[in-house]
Amino acid sequence: MTKRVAVIGAGPSGLAQLRAFQSAAAKGAEIPEIVCFEKQDNWGGLWNYTWRTGLDEYGEPVHCSMYRYLWSNGPKEGLEFADYSFEEHFGKQIASYPPRAVLFDYIEGRVKKADVRDWIRFRHPVRFVKYNEDKGNFTVTAHDLINDSIYEEEFDNVVCASGHFSTPNVPEYPGFDVFGGRVLHAHDFRDAMEFHGKDILLLGSSYSAEDIGSQCWKYGAKSITVAYRNAPMGFNWPDNWKEVPALVRVDETTAYFADGTSKKVDAIILCTGYKHHFPFLPDDLRLKTANRLATADLYKGVVWVHNPKLFYVGMQDQWFTFNMFDAQAWWVRDAIMGRIAIPEDKAVLLKDVEDRIAGEDAGADAHDAIHYQGDYVKELIAETDYPSFDVDGACEAFFEWKDHKKKDIMGFRNHAYRSVITGTMAPIHHTPWKDALEDSMESYLRN
Ligand SMILES: Cc1cc2nc3c(=O)[nH]c(=O)nc-3n(C[C@H](O)[C@H](O)[C@H](O)COP(=O)(O)OP(=O)(O)OC[C@H]3O[C@@H](n4cnc5c(N)ncnc54)[C@H](O)[C@@H]3O)c2cc1C
Repeated sequence: MTKRVAVIGAGPSGLAQLRAFQSAAAKGAEIPEIVCFEKQDNWGGLWNYTWRTGLDEYGEPVHCSMYRYLWSNGPKEGLEFADYSFEEHFGKQIASYPPRAVLFDYIEGRVKKADVRDWIRFRHPVRFVKYNEDKGNFTVTAHDLINDSIYEEEFDNVVCASGHFSTPNVPEYPGFDVFGGRVLHAHDFRDAMEFHGKDILLLGSSYSAEDIGSQCWKYGAKSITVAYRNAPMGFNWPDNWKEVPALVRVDETTAYFADGTSKKVDAIILCTGYKHHFPFLPDDLRLKTANRLATADLYKGVVWVHNPKLFYVGMQDQWFTFNMFDAQAWWVRDAIMGRIAIPEDKAVLLKDVEDRIAGEDAGADAHDAIHYQGDYVKELIAETDYPSFDVDGACEAFFEWKDHKKKDIMGFRNHAYRSVITGTMAPIHHTPWKDALEDSMESYLRN
């Protein structure tokens, strides 16, 4: 009987999984039946923008954590699909830091070409997954939101690709309950124009704080204060941008910091990260991990060590994104199709996890971390037929990107890099990022 595989989520990771199976079928292989469950009404995961926050029209938590005017925060040359270049999609080489809509179009282009949309059940959140010891398979419980019916189906394998940048980590600080302005998490931030002319406080020192602060600066916030817990981001910020030590408390109007300083602010944006959150998985199947490059409990970064019929794709913290998800998805496909053998001895799986964690911990800095993840991508690609590409070249693009940020945090997006897939140099974008207020696909692609 044909195997059945459930894929949870049709974001970049889930779509990579569909494309991996489709590419094997296109080469003549007999593939399992694939059913992809997606809770949103379209594919693209986080790249599928909605203005909504909180709950959607069905009462489901809104998945989107992206916002208007978001441009890629790393060079596109680091994420390009090895089997579908930007030039193939757009018919020409494009600038290196595309806005969200442009990247959505690119992600969509590959899966439209692969013709896998029929494999996806949209508006079907997975409610529960259970392993059946007696049958050696899984029961997946899904909710057909449109017909409001909950049903169960059995699958031989499950691939969890539900993402981990959607459920916000929301800390509490003394005084939040009396503060007179808005307090919101980055997950609910949608439009920097809302903060035009305002004094804003951001908590955090990672990508969200950097990018949401930069958006607010670009669209005319009066001042930006960023409170860090461990270390400041330390970029050469504009004059109206200040980094201060941790927030201690707020009152109706003012924020007070660990160094004894204070600042009157209009809004507080919590850039305090996300949780790996799988409310649809029982304890024996649920990944519990920190957001890091070497996750807990995943052999080769994808196989659930406690039940190797369950796979996770895209659960690592990410330098590499789309092409790493591809490397993982191709590997998972081959494991499911029996082309790659997963060791039967659990001790071997656990040792692999331990070694990966030690490998990451041995790195000293971001440079080492980029190489570490690049080596992981290479390792997986070498074991499948995913088109090999110059991963070291992609690492170089990341290093240049980091240098460009260090030199000019509001200007790094004005640089261009060489594609490691086609070898072509990207053009410099027609408008410096800080002056490009319109983020539509039409305006970005205009020569
Ligand atoms: C604000 C922000 C900016 C980012 N910017 C960049 C960038 O510039 N460049 C970059 O490369 N990466 C960026 N990322 C990283 C991002 O993680 C990846 O690009 C990518 O979206 C991850 O893909 P994914 O498929 O693993 O997860 P997601 O994109 O989160 O997709 C997961 C999918 O699973 C679905 N799902 C969840 N639960 C269920 C369920 N129970 N049942 C059915 N479906 C479910 C969701 O609806 C969603 O469609 C950014 C992330 C954030 C939050």
